[in-house]
Amino acid sequence: MTIPALRLNSGHDIPQLGYGVFKVPADDTARAVGEALALGYRHIDTAAVYGNEEGVGAAIAASGIPRDELFVTTKLWNDRHEGDEPQKAIRESLAKLGLEYVDLYLVHWPTPANDNYVEAWQALIAMRDAGLARSIGVSNFLVRHLERIVAETGVTPAVDQIELHPAHQQRDVVAWARENGVLIEAWGPLGQGKYDLFSEPAVAGAAAAHGKSVAQVVLRWHIQKGNVVFPKSVRAERLRENMDVFDLQLTDAEMAAIDALDPGDGSGRVGAHPDDVN
Ligand code: NAD
Repeated sequence: MTIPALRLNSGHDIPQLGYGVFKVPADDTARAVGEALALGYRHIDTAAVYGNEEGVGAAIAASGIPRDELFVTTKLWNDRHEGDEPQKAIRESLAKLGLEYVDLYLVHWPTPANDNYVEAWQALIAMRDAGLARSIGVSNFLVRHLERIVAETGVTPAVDQIELHPAHQQRDVVAWARENGVLIEAWGPLGQGKYDLFSEPAVAGAAAAHGKSVAQVVLRWHIQKGNVVFPKSVRAERLRENMDVFDLQLTDAEMAAIDALDPGDGSGRVGAHPDDVN
C-alpha cells in the first residue's frame, strides 16, 4: 500500500500517514513499531518524553529498511529549552534512536509561562543547519506563538503538530498555517477515544455508506483536509485498518457533516491547553 507524501516547506517530503507511539510502553515499542514497519508504515512519531525512543531505534535497526525510506520525528521536552540543553537533548535522542539525523524535530510545547520558546526555536534552527534534523517544527503552538517565532527569527516552522479531531479543529491555527506554508499534523486524530466520536451519526453514517470502519472515516476526513496523521494503536489489526484509508473518498456533504462536529467554543478539547503546560 502506497502512502502519499506531502511536501514540507524545507523541500523534504513527509508521508501523510504514520504511526504515533505516545503511551506505547517502552518494553513493547520495538515489537509494535516492527509490526508497523512490516505493514508498510514508514513514518514514526515519537518524543523524548514518551520514553520509548530506544524501542523505535531497535525496530528501525532490525527492519533493514534503508534510512532514506524512513521518516522519523522526535521532540524536545519542555525543561530543555535553554542554553546547551536543546543540543544535548537532540544528541541523546539520536543516540537512543540509533540515527545520525531525524527527519523532523519539534519544540514539544511552547511553555509560555517560561518565556523561552524563541530560544528553543533558535536552537532548532542551529540543529537544522548542523544537519541533525532535516526539517524543524513546533507542536501545540497557537497563532501568537507562531507569529512570535517567525517575527524574531525569520524562520517559519515546517509543521505545527496540534490537537486536532472533529470536536476540536483549531480553525484559527489551521488558517494561519495554510497562509504561511506550514503543514498541520493532527495529534489525537481519533480524539484519543475520550469522547464518543465513533457513534456520531456523521461518522457512523459515512462508515456504513462506504463499508469502512468509523476510525477509517475519521482518518480519511483528516487526509482530505490535508492533515498529517499518525494514529496510535498497539494492535496489528488496527495498524492495518488505520492505513487502509486511501481507496475511500468522502463526499463534500460527508466532509461538511464532520466539519460541523466542532462546537466552536473550545469545549471539544481532550488534552491540555497550550498555555497551561509549562
Ligand atoms: P489517537 O487519537 O490516535 O487515539 C489513540 C487511541 O485510539 C488508542 O487508545 C487506540 O486504542 C484507539 N484506536 C486506534 N486505532 C483505532 C481503530 N482503528 N479503531 C478504534 N480505536 C482505535 O491519540 P494519540 O495516540 O494521543 O495521538 C496520536 C499520536 O499523536 C500519538 O501517538 C503521538 O505520536 C502524537 N501526540 C502528540 C502530542 C503532542 O503534544 N505533540 C500529544 C498527544 C499525541
